[in-house]
Amino acid sequence: MAEGEVLIVVISGPSGVGKSTVAETVLEKAPGLVRSVSLTTRNPRPGDVDGEDYHFVSPEEFAARRDEGGLLEWAEVHGNLYGTEVKQVERQLAGGRSVLLEIDVQGGRSVKTARPGAVLIFLLPPSDEILETRLRGRGTDDEDVILKRLANARRELESAECYDYRVVNDELDRCVSEVLGIIRVESMRRGTDGAKRGTEGV
Ligand code: ADP
Ligand code: 5GP
Repeated sequence: MAEGEVLIVVISGPSGVGKSTVAETVLEKAPGLVRSVSLTTRNPRPGDVDGEDYHFVSPEEFAARRDEGGLLEWAEVHGNLYGTEVKQVERQLAGGRSVLLEIDVQGGRSVKTARPGAVLIFLLPPSDEILETRLRGRGTDDEDVILKRLANARRELESAECYDYRVVNDELDRCVSEVLGIIRVESMRRGTDGAKRGTEGV
């Protein structure tokens, strides 16, 4: 990554649009960028590693941290609580690493409120049909759940306008290159213009 101010980068978009897939590939290709590990009250799935995929906590612990103001943002997603720990993000930024958050649409907008300098990237599906196919390919066979998530995803697409960047997740390599390009441009912009524009940014 280009030198410059460290960033909070948010990859967001509706469920099933490809956030995890894109975020993982971006992280492999961007040295200096680290993933923020979310807190969640959902149960670990087979293969999930505590502290690597998520910090799995009880609803009580989640509520306590949230109420103490220890979370950068939090949201209820599919009946579970998710949130990003402020301390963990601060530690990474202080160490000169930019932080990548992979969060839902509501969470992304909360981050922007808390940290106006965050770079918000909204992933768009190439088409309604592909969004539906990807959503059906993820984890559940329950038709009611799928239809609810699909309706929710279609509603969330209307939030795309509130984001700094909108990127279509069609061909993965192209999408990842575009995201890496945005990160590079934003880092350079802040590195070179930051002093002139005062303390704007993260
Ligand atoms: P999200 O994290 O947004 O819920 P995932 O990353 O889990 O979405 O992706 C949902 C599904 O779509 C997965 O089955 C994934 O393999 C597939 N997928 C994601 N990105 C692409 C892409 N660019 N091309 C084809 N399939 C993709
Ligand atoms: P999963 O349980 O499938 O890993 O994630 C479910 C959803 O929670 C995904 O849509 C993901 O974007 C969202 N999510 C994961 N971590 C966070 C977080 O820290 N905050 C918010 N708001 N959403 C999150």
